[in-house]
Amino acid sequence: MTNVGFIGLGIMGGPMALNVLRGGRSLTVFDTNADAVDRLVAAGAKAAASPAAVARASDVVITMLPDAPDVERVALGPNGLRDGFKAGSIYLDMSTIDPQTGRGVGAELAKIGVAMVDSPVGKTAEHAVKGTLTLMVGGEPDVVARVRPILDLMGTDFFYCGGPGAGHAMKLVNNLLATALIAVNSECLVAGVKAGLTLDVMTSVMKTTMAWNNQLAIAMPARPFKGDFEPGFMLRLAHKDCRLAARMIEALGVAGPVGKATLAVCQEGLDAGLGGKDVGVILSMREAPAGATVRSQT
Ligand code: NAD
Repeated sequence: MTNVGFIGLGIMGGPMALNVLRGGRSLTVFDTNADAVDRLVAAGAKAAASPAAVARASDVVITMLPDAPDVERVALGPNGLRDGFKAGSIYLDMSTIDPQTGRGVGAELAKIGVAMVDSPVGKTAEHAVKGTLTLMVGGEPDVVARVRPILDLMGTDFFYCGGPGAGHAMKLVNNLLATALIAVNSECLVAGVKAGLTLDVMTSVMKTTMAWNNQLAIAMPARPFKGDFEPGFMLRLAHKDCRLAARMIEALGVAGPVGKATLAVCQEGLDAGLGGKDVGVILSMREAPAGATVRSQT
């Protein structure tokens, strides 16, 4: 597995691809954004003219694309990976998409002898640069074992979640829960300030109760409580993840009222033109109409 292909060289995929290159693999890349390709070529990668051309040059192809239709198009569309893959190659999708789409693509590729692994990632662009991402991995164990050395070039926290699609499912339930926590934290804290409570009192009490969570402990103090709503993790990506999670939950026959409410909160932010802000901007969406702010003293 020395010849690696990489498609989707954006905020996350760009540095992840660089780490694969620095790990001594021969790398062939494609992206619809020529500047993103040029950055990798300057570092020693080869450019290909299409996903099919990437697949022809590679034993394993990685995608890090925005959304499920992008993955379907790149894998199965005209001049897609399917048109270039040799039997025995492996397709490794690291995008955050839904397990239904991932498994559908995997089933099509299995017909030509190509196995698929899903490994969406957790943490941030900074961790992508450092190669310290969380890897949520789904696939047949023997296939996962073959791509493990490549995954280890991009991440340090490796979690085998189960068979094909398990990584995608893990990522969606994780991100829906994380976004729901920001939404409910924001609602409760702004209400608390309006009721005369300070942030310090609220967090001091909550630290001792079942209300405490990592958004309150880590993410909200880092940015939103300082009035910083720049990304970070963009609201439009959180919206996409909640949309895919709500769809998955519905397909599984599980009632999902909180997921739908969280998606509606994200949609409210997109409608207000805040999609490019950090997901923590949900706090400001509750602050502004209430005429109250939730800010740390430090
Ligand atoms: P991005 O928009 O920065 O990068 C996506 C790249 O894919 C772009 O370079 C774009 O030109 C390319 N692309 C889109 N369609 C293409 C196509 N048809 N063919 C070839 N290239 C195409 O997005 P990102 O922030 O790097 O996110 C990628 C994935 O990682 C998303 O699924 C996202 O949800 C997930 N993710 C992002 C973060 C984060 O903090 N940004 C963290 C974890 C996971």
